[in-house]
Amino acid sequence: MSTTWHVLGAGSLGTLWATRLARADVPVKLILRDAARLAAYQAAGGLTLVEHGEAKCYPVPAETPDHPEPIHRLLVACKAYDAEAAVAQLAPRLAPDAELILLQNGLGSQDAVATQVPQARCIYASSTEGAFRDGDWRVIFAGHGYTWLGDAGHPVAPIWLDDLSIAGIPHEWSTDILTRLWRKLALNCAINPLTVLHDCRNGGLQEHHCEVATLCVELTELLERCGQPAAAEDLQQEVERVIQATAANYSSMYQDVANQRRTEISYLLGHACKVAARHQLNLPHLNQLEQRLITHLHSLGLPSD
Ligand code: NAP
Repeated sequence: MSTTWHVLGAGSLGTLWATRLARADVPVKLILRDAARLAAYQAAGGLTLVEHGEAKCYPVPAETPDHPEPIHRLLVACKAYDAEAAVAQLAPRLAPDAELILLQNGLGSQDAVATQVPQARCIYASSTEGAFRDGDWRVIFAGHGYTWLGDAGHPVAPIWLDDLSIAGIPHEWSTDILTRLWRKLALNCAINPLTVLHDCRNGGLQEHHCEVATLCVELTELLERCGQPAAAEDLQQEVERVIQATAANYSSMYQDVANQRRTEISYLLGHACKVAARHQLNLPHLNQLEQRLITHLHSLGLPSD
């Protein structure tokens, strides 16, 4: 019998992973916030994944955080700002050989989680898959992509990657996961906040070429200073390529703000500014961008952390 995957958070990515594992007969259990969420889930009868326009319901078993069963493998599928507290709650249940897979975007939350559970192996992930909820317990698989997984401390790949292959979850073991996460963070910092402030799709930033270029210079300096030169390579060209290739899309931060949802700013632009300050690096445009974004979020009544 293979090890059970406990999935913490039945949102977009948690559902995308849990349903694909369950349909491949890999043992999966959901961990939901509390008894009220568990009751709501049980009334719904399962998780629904909509793929290629076809909806299918998977009755994945679920439990609350205080369930007594030990956890050996935990997929953390909360937002970056919820991950630390959600994992801390489960710390007493983690087996001595526990492994955590952290799906959070940006940087900062992974280290905060790892500090909570020093005995566990924490594997960081970076995903280009796209999914969104169009109702409780119902997720649309919107964008096929790839997930890179890696462990900066131990380069050896875990054997359970086989479960992902069986479940048809496209993935690759990465020996430079931090470089990938930093690169993605830098792309996000150069694009997402400006789409919010200029109220535009990604393509709208073609009209703000100079502003984007100035940010790329500062982000390149930051990546080089914090030991990520590979993540800095040709950053501006890639930012421009992404702006062009995704011209018709609204960025994830734009969508969060448009839907009055909390953003992950502290783990993206906020993290970049924090690390720059730690290195005593003066990046005036990046700092100004953070201040403009915080002011904008406050004006909409949204949190800025
Ligand atoms: P989401 O749809 O908001 O799902 C987060 C889930 O976490 C929610 O179901 C929430 O529960 C649950 N949660 C929060 N605290 C919890 C706790 N203490 N116990 C149990 N459950 C808890 O978020 P998402 O879009 O899947 O994003 C997750 C992470 O993946 C983010 O960092 C995001 O940036 C990253 N990511 C997402 C995508 C994507 O396409 N969605 C792509 C790449 C990366 P409730 O339902 O009760 O609120």
